[in-house]
Amino acid sequence: MKKSGLILTALIGLAAASGVLAAVPQTAKPAAAALSVRYEELSSPDFVQAVARSGGTCIVPLGILEKHGPHLPLGTDLIDCREVSLRAAAADYAVVFPPYFVGQIFEAKHQPGTIAYGSRMMFDILQQTCDELARNGFKKIVLVNGHGGNDAFLHFFCQSQLEARHDYVVYLFEPSEDEATKAKLDKMRKTAVDGHAGEEETSVMLAHHPGLVRLDRAGAESGEDQKRQAGLTNAYTGIWWYAGQPNHYRGDGSAGNAEFGRALIEAETAALVEMVRSVKKDTVTAELQKKFFDDAAKPLETKPFVRK
Ligand SMILES: [Zn+2]
Repeated sequence: MKKSGLILTALIGLAAASGVLAAVPQTAKPAAAALSVRYEELSSPDFVQAVARSGGTCIVPLGILEKHGPHLPLGTDLIDCREVSLRAAAADYAVVFPPYFVGQIFEAKHQPGTIAYGSRMMFDILQQTCDELARNGFKKIVLVNGHGGNDAFLHFFCQSQLEARHDYVVYLFEPSEDEATKAKLDKMRKTAVDGHAGEEETSVMLAHHPGLVRLDRAGAESGEDQKRQAGLTNAYTGIWWYAGQPNHYRGDGSAGNAEFGRALIEAETAALVEMVRSVKKDTVTAELQKKFFDDAAKPLETKPFVRK
């Protein structure tokens, strides 16, 4: 799957190059250009074809702008989840939405470079993005989250799709690893504590954008859990992450290596390809959603399921 992704990327590159040369008179008819998987690269007429070819499936990779330890770029989550999304879309055609960096990141407001939009705005922008994609024919929207701080928000966002009737479905990518993949990755892993700009994220960036990694700086700050709320039991507070990881760094990026990164990207891409294929085939969710809203409009008429 990784190979076919690279081949398609190469084809897109060639198509772009042939566009540049279009002014040169040619006797042979140019071959039809491949449809880009990148939303922003499609022409308006090609967009119509892309919607059809994707089965109305658009992938929205969600990143954020936040510190990633002292050694990784602010857009790490954005760059990483786009890489996986682009590879998956190339393997099984889907359109990938342009870079999207609006999400929940209040916990890093004390660090340079964080862009933390308000909670209502982040909800509205995502809802309106989905509405606009659906108005343009994408009835299956796949959210690929690259940022841990978005987890609760995106689950709430999915639950909120039941607030009002939609003619589209929002799917959230939730990868799981099979036993063999898990064992392979565990064998390659060198550190026990990870979670933000640690071994995994550093490895992934080393695998596909090594020039953006300053590995020599990875040990300049502590990625250890400071356990500053250790006295609190059976309780959750919004400050929990800052309490443990005030440097917005969890783990040790020095342990990162490109080989581990490639394995992580391949595993996640394979899981996403599998998900996109199941989403494209899925008709049940849209039917259930419709039935649910029909019932919700007349709850007194809702028929119970009887025991078989
Ligand atoms: Zn993040």
